[in-house]
Amino acid sequence: MVKKLEIIEWLDDTGKEIVHREPQSGSGEFRIGSQLVVRESQEAVFFRDGKAMGVLGPGRHTLTTQNIPFLTELVGMAFEGEGSPFRAEVYYVSKKTFVDMKWGTKEPIIFRDKELAMVRLRAFGQFSIKVNESLLFVNKLVGTEGRYTADAIEGFLKGVIISRLADLLGETLESIFDLARVYDEIGTLGKARLADDFEKYGIQLVDFYINAITPPEEVQKRIDERSSMGALGDMNAYMRYKTATAISDAAQNESGGGGAATGVGLGAGVGMGATMAQMMTQSLNQGQPQQGAAAAAALVVCPSCRKQVPPAKFCPECGKAMGASCPKCGAAIANGAKFCPECGQKLGGQTCSCGAEIPSGSKFCPDCGKKVE
Ligand SMILES: [Zn+2]
Ligand SMILES: [Zn+2]
Ligand SMILES: [Zn+2]
Repeated sequence: MVKKLEIIEWLDDTGKEIVHREPQSGSGEFRIGSQLVVRESQEAVFFRDGKAMGVLGPGRHTLTTQNIPFLTELVGMAFEGEGSPFRAEVYYVSKKTFVDMKWGTKEPIIFRDKELAMVRLRAFGQFSIKVNESLLFVNKLVGTEGRYTADAIEGFLKGVIISRLADLLGETLESIFDLARVYDEIGTLGKARLADDFEKYGIQLVDFYINAITPPEEVQKRIDERSSMGALGDMNAYMRYKTATAISDAAQNESGGGGAATGVGLGAGVGMGATMAQMMTQSLNQGQPQQGAAAAAALVVCPSCRKQVPPAKFCPECGKAMGASCPKCGAAIANGAKFCPECGQKLGGQTCSCGAEIPSGSKFCPDCGKKVE
């Protein structure tokens, strides 16, 4: 009787499988005398009862206890003869370098920002790995973690990356606004720590890249705005901006009711934005010390109530029309006045060919519409 010898082998068509279990499910039954083919860049690990028994390198191996001493333990002395069955699982491990594997957050990492409280961060990047020690790899990932498909192992490693990254962000970053500054540091530290983490699983981390760490869009906008202010070297401006944004946000939230409330909310927001822009301009043009003076100069005296108020068509204090303001001292001027009541500056003074008085700064006659020469 001619005995048909079994041949066990694995060829990865996809080139993407880091590990392949033989049989793919259930308990494997092998026979003494069968042949096990291990290709270049592969190793075969015999595994039973949660433990790796031994590893075979590339070649065509005939499964006998003479050739492969560790099989003795698997077979048992009584059934050592040719054709004797023995139970085991064989894990083919690919020894090639897996390049450009992608990692990314499925669920955002919750980062506790010292300025913004909780920020939900998403991150993604690439990594390359290579199995260094097949036995350790199978013992840890198959034996301890119970993962024996390439997908499951990839998923596990990505999980290690994400949790390590979350730790690192907590350690190196106080505020998301500093992210740009510590980005490289996180990348370098991340690679070093992950290399240690992966080594415990018999894996060499060949490369590790963070492509992006992205906060939610609205936080990203604030970071962009802050970094442009940071480039101008004015952190106080940012603090004022942040306050303004917070108030503006509050106004927008209040406007949810619609109708009149919407108008109020929007107005407050816009006004705050304008104030902020003014502060920014002042501090950028004139520097901090002159800021008070600049703010005072921007005020005008209301011709009705005589209070110092910001320039406006109507006085914010008494609600009366304020008219024009003096180009020299900024005092409010009643319509038609020829001289400033505060500093005596001559105002307007031009008379149109139609005889009408033309207010200072006008380009057209208010009566006939003729262009002022
Ligand atoms: Zn007034
Ligand atoms: Zn004046
Ligand atoms: Zn005219």
